[in-house]
Amino acid sequence: MDLSIPLRIPSRVVPVGNLPLGGDYPVRVQSMTSTDTLDTRSTVAQAVRMIEAGSEYVRITVPGMKEVENLREIKKELSRQGYHTPLIADVHYIPKIAEIAATIVEKVRINPGNYLPPRVARHASHETDNGKALEQIAGRLSPLLKICKDRGTAVRIGVNHGSLSGRITDLYGDTPLGMVESALEFARVCSHLDFHSLVFSMKASNTRVMITANRLLAERMRLEGMNYPLHLGVTEAGAGEDGRIKSAIGIGSLLADGIGDTIRVSLTEDPEFEIPVAYNILQAAGVRITKTEFISCPSCGRTQFDIQAALEKIREKTSHLKGLKIAVMGCVVNGPGEMADANYGYVGAGNGKVHLYRGQQLVEKNINELFALEALISLIKTSGDWFDPAP
Ligand code: SF4
Repeated sequence: MDLSIPLRIPSRVVPVGNLPLGGDYPVRVQSMTSTDTLDTRSTVAQAVRMIEAGSEYVRITVPGMKEVENLREIKKELSRQGYHTPLIADVHYIPKIAEIAATIVEKVRINPGNYLPPRVARHASHETDNGKALEQIAGRLSPLLKICKDRGTAVRIGVNHGSLSGRITDLYGDTPLGMVESALEFARVCSHLDFHSLVFSMKASNTRVMITANRLLAERMRLEGMNYPLHLGVTEAGAGEDGRIKSAIGIGSLLADGIGDTIRVSLTEDPEFEIPVAYNILQAAGVRITKTEFISCPSCGRTQFDIQAALEKIREKTSHLKGLKIAVMGCVVNGPGEMADANYGYVGAGNGKVHLYRGQQLVEKNINELFALEALISLIKTSGDWFDPAP
């Protein structure tokens, strides 16, 4: 099937400890602790819950000097407990903190707003101002980049819609274009300083702003011959169903465009609850398959069996068959045509009877629904696609 859009826009590989991102590596899932970074015990316990849920990187906020020093304790304790998941320091304000963090953890996130001159000089032309700004950025960034280069630490330039520098908003407004320009001038400075272990993010709580900024950045990077990986996330997405839908729209739209190398779902919930949502978004976008995919119709007047109960039973027995697509459809009128690229189909044939399909091929007809689940499992087995669930 030619969908014309690449499954993933090619990006360079960026090493992050023992787990690189970008290139052909799977789109990585990460989350962030919500504990006090000075509270080693709580932070380690929460990080462990995140890792056990599947978080491939753990980000920890580092607002001050005391917290950055405590990163060593957190890392040591995680390691003592057998967890070597790469850690990311989230640094907002002070360049010196980022420099210390870069000697401890595998990746540092910085906010470009804190490395930039505050405002365009009143009488300076944009060119003069930009030249000076780039010099200042280079001057403030180079100590960090030198440490990162020596230690193999990656850097994320995390642009947030809500915290663009005054200089950028003076030039471009509080817009997706401003976010992109902010990222690009950092990319150019890093490139000039021969530092390329970079990841970029364009975050906003408004999904349209976040989607537009990321699309624009991907296109501008392509035009400038850059291929840095992108980190996707909707900030302040909320909680519950609202937060999940908002994240799925923002992150999922970009993944469907082939954009994105690592994602973070931000929910106002304990961070371990973000991880299953992240994997579900990746699976729904078709970029990282971690479980069986079920294709099922909503049913209608044509359905003559209990499709909800059937789907539930089928899920129970087959949800470990990672990568397999199983369709459960209400009728033979539209079911076979609509189950698209399913590997197996369980399709209502009227009066409590079921047809079974392998791909688009009808292989067993009119099975009593009481025996249809067993027949489906045995069809999957004889076709060589079955394996037993892990104990
Ligand atoms: S596949 Fe058949 S039963 Fe299901 S919604 Fe479509 S027409 Fe109705």
